[in-house]
Amino acid sequence: MLPYSHSVNRIQLPRNMIENSMFEEEPDVVDLAKEPCLHPLEPDEVEYEPRSSRLLVRGLGENEMDEDEEDYESSAKLLGMSFMNRSTGLRNNAAGYRQSSDGSCSVPSLRTMVVCAIVLVIAVSVIMVIYLLPKCTFTKEGCHKKNHTMELIYPLATNGKRFPWAKTRLPSNVVPLHYDLVLQPNLTTTKFAGSVQITVNVIQVTWNIILHSSGLNITKATLTSAGWNQAKPVAVLEYPIRDQIAVVAPDALLVGQNYTLIIDYSSNLSDTYYGFYKVSYKDEHAEKRWLAATQFEPLAARSAFPCFDEPAFKATFLIKIQRDEQHSALSNMPKVQLSGIVQDEFSVSLKMSTYLVAFIVANLKNISKETNRTLVSIYAMPQKLGQVEHALDTAVKLLEFYQKYFHIEYPLQKLDLVAIPDFQAGAMENWGLITFRETTLLFDNKTSSAMDKKLVTAVIAHELAHQWFGNLVTMEWWNDLWLNEGFATFMEYFAMDRTFPELQTDEEFLKVRFKTMMKDSLNASHPISSAVQSSEQIEEMFDALSYIKGASLLLMLKKYIKHDSFQAGIENYLHNHSYGSTRSDDLWDSMNEITNGTLDVKKLMKTWILQKGFPLVTVKRQGKSLHVQQERFFLKKYFFSYSYLWHIPLSYTTNKCNPFLCPYAYLLDQKSATIELQEEVAWVKFNVDMNGYYIVHYAEDDWNALIDLLKNNLTALSAKDRAHLINNIFSLVGIGKVPLLKAFHLLDYLVKENHTAPISQALFQVNLIYDLVEKRGMQDLAARVVDRVEKLLRSKIDQQTWTDDGTISEREFRSTVLAFACSHHLGNCRTTATKLFEEWKASNGTKSLPTDVMKTVFTTGAKTDDGWEFLLSMYTSSVSEAEKHKMLEALASTEDVRKLIWLMQTSLEGDLIRAQELSHIIATVIQSLPGHLLAWDFVKENWEKLIRKFHLGSFAIQNIVTVSTFQFSTEAHLLEVKTFFESKSEKVSQLRCVKEAIETIQLNIKWMERNLATLQQWL
Ligand SMILES: [Zn+2]
Repeated sequence: MLPYSHSVNRIQLPRNMIENSMFEEEPDVVDLAKEPCLHPLEPDEVEYEPRSSRLLVRGLGENEMDEDEEDYESSAKLLGMSFMNRSTGLRNNAAGYRQSSDGSCSVPSLRTMVVCAIVLVIAVSVIMVIYLLPKCTFTKEGCHKKNHTMELIYPLATNGKRFPWAKTRLPSNVVPLHYDLVLQPNLTTTKFAGSVQITVNVIQVTWNIILHSSGLNITKATLTSAGWNQAKPVAVLEYPIRDQIAVVAPDALLVGQNYTLIIDYSSNLSDTYYGFYKVSYKDEHAEKRWLAATQFEPLAARSAFPCFDEPAFKATFLIKIQRDEQHSALSNMPKVQLSGIVQDEFSVSLKMSTYLVAFIVANLKNISKETNRTLVSIYAMPQKLGQVEHALDTAVKLLEFYQKYFHIEYPLQKLDLVAIPDFQAGAMENWGLITFRETTLLFDNKTSSAMDKKLVTAVIAHELAHQWFGNLVTMEWWNDLWLNEGFATFMEYFAMDRTFPELQTDEEFLKVRFKTMMKDSLNASHPISSAVQSSEQIEEMFDALSYIKGASLLLMLKKYIKHDSFQAGIENYLHNHSYGSTRSDDLWDSMNEITNGTLDVKKLMKTWILQKGFPLVTVKRQGKSLHVQQERFFLKKYFFSYSYLWHIPLSYTTNKCNPFLCPYAYLLDQKSATIELQEEVAWVKFNVDMNGYYIVHYAEDDWNALIDLLKNNLTALSAKDRAHLINNIFSLVGIGKVPLLKAFHLLDYLVKENHTAPISQALFQVNLIYDLVEKRGMQDLAARVVDRVEKLLRSKIDQQTWTDDGTISEREFRSTVLAFACSHHLGNCRTTATKLFEEWKASNGTKSLPTDVMKTVFTTGAKTDDGWEFLLSMYTSSVSEAEKHKMLEALASTEDVRKLIWLMQTSLEGDLIRAQELSHIIATVIQSLPGHLLAWDFVKENWEKLIRKFHLGSFAIQNIVTVSTFQFSTEAHLLEVKTFFESKSEKVSQLRCVKEAIETIQLNIKWMERNLATLQQWL
């Protein structure tokens, strides 16, 4: 799946330049949690520890773990510590180090530490005694001792009887082999009936079959076996809290036997974006119609049919859809027959996970093309069929590329890509039937910009990569979601770079890596491979870390072990595990087969996937020696942080780099090391092209040498390196390693810069500062920040033409610079934009506008009431989603409070403006001063409706929480945000996005305390 916020690169991540300052003064429990281990991490000691172990032993709910515990648990796992060592004493000690109530910092004295150590030892001893007395040992399966606690935790089914299963994960004593599914959706009543026959195999003798079902009204259930004369009725117990049902067999189910479970049921088509859901749309005659489509990942297949809804339970599926005569149906597999008039039967699927099952009942049209015995088709609403050609060409090219690159053929005879008119994610990789938002599949020559083309191409590349990474080989459980999403994201950029080099998407990849590192440097971050159980935790795994950090780590590995070995490794992995399920270790084992003892990939990569955050590498040059040292980014030299150790494949270049050997590589697997150069150099730059996932700090002379280099000979470094230096220096300002003015001093070289990547990174950093200052009501100061940058960019702004000419990079550059100029009223930007808007308006929207500046033109036009109203009327009639997207952003950029409220409310209702747009609308609304307060009020007032529509933990909710709070920088707002989320359920206050939001505000407050005075004096 590709969350929409990721796909359009609009994810609003918190501020790294700010966040770190706080930690110098406020060490959080994460450090203390690691106190027991002062030796370097030994990744091989890491063990998987399911949370159910806690449930069984303590007899407690799964959500009891608080933030401190979570940190500690993850650290404990990393350090190979026994679960028993977790102690509340530790946490109490940790609390002692927290910031005191008056806001000052309590740096622990030696005496405090000694006292804490004693308390710690006592607490650990007490806990160990408590745990050891019942002779309970912890293993992967939890506590083996059968005691009363275990008996007590069996829940009650809805009928009051004891439900025979007490875990969130299904048992593995019965496994599904095959599903026969018949569905009868009624688009008039918006209900559906279903019947599923599941053939299961028994691994361990049992009387119960436990599987998933959510919101289904089960009317009949029977069980048959080859040895039985006839099907026997069975009782079904339901436990809705975990979406589980238990089929109680009349006899013991015997090991090795197959049984067929038949369940008849009915339900309503969903009015959310999950499960089997309904979508209303206007047809070409403007009449309201309905279609029904599915979105199952991660946990919604169970709401369309009873099933074993975990990714490792792979099976084959035979799907039959009974439908109205006027509709047609699609599913993963090709249609094999029409029986009667209204039933479509699809051929039996390959062995696959439930979350990849899909079907659609609708009135769509398509165009198709055959490649390598696979028929590729693009489906859209009939009136949009003119916008599908780009997608078809792109999909065919990419399918051919992947087959060659992996040396594994796409295994199905058909591949459908379908544009769904209302869709929450960016796209979903259902095997053979990929679903998309209209904006991520359709391309309209008149209204789609260079960036839109990149977006459509990228999303197709991502979803096609999933046909191998995810569909053919699937992560065993959601803790390793990164195996699916990190790989698909990595392959998305790689395939585009190989297949469509003119799109220059490697810079796009760079941009999202910067943003992801901001998120990953928060204490609320998580290792990309993290234990998850509850539905909210699983939903929250769909974040920038699983996607972008996962992809970044693969990029770093590929650069280090070289492309050929990397390719051979992933080919090996895909071959070894086709139609199977994997853990992260399986990938590293496949890589190690290729490196053959020359490098232990598993040892190296475990330090990256099992630790949150990333390293800061500090470089000091003395003559020909380079002293390099690592620590966790943002932590002060604080001995607790020493438990963090990464194996970092360093890369570096110098002014005397030998072109045959450059960039140089060095594996830093210790805290520090010295690299000897062959000769003295004038400058050195580490993390070449930012292919590594770390930030670099230099000694003052080396920073000065690099700044001089930028000013005098900027092409000595690549555009990516230049963008990386800008990103690094502003990140370092946040942790107080570099003064703010030095970062602005570096930006002075921008006068000579003409490349998109460094300029957009500079504007991004400046905008962060601008937003923070402006939202505190200091418009004068905010304007002075912009003035400072304008002086550097003025000639570039003036040089821009309002056309679609040039390379993709030039077009993107124009789009970025003019959007910045018009939004800050620089030069004559708004005059030109207004002129273009008026001409377009006078032509009643028929005059074509340059697509790359269309959004800027609309945004400027929407500043007047007339312009806004006209845009809204055009929005409702346009059939181009690309155009509508730009219009909507313009409409949401007004500062008229009434209009903003109306937009958010209308989108939440989902009729005139679809609810799929809401998180994007809010992300635009918050950009203005009145808007950011309004958006937060809107979120508070409509919280219940929001989580009903979008699900707790979903990326839409993550995005809404982040964007509506990330600009706050006062104690009053901090208290308000905290109080609001705490007043909701425990689940809400424990959401990771909520923790991130609170941490970000705290960091904003600190940043303002540190830097505001400097800014005021300097500007
Ligand atoms: Zn994906």
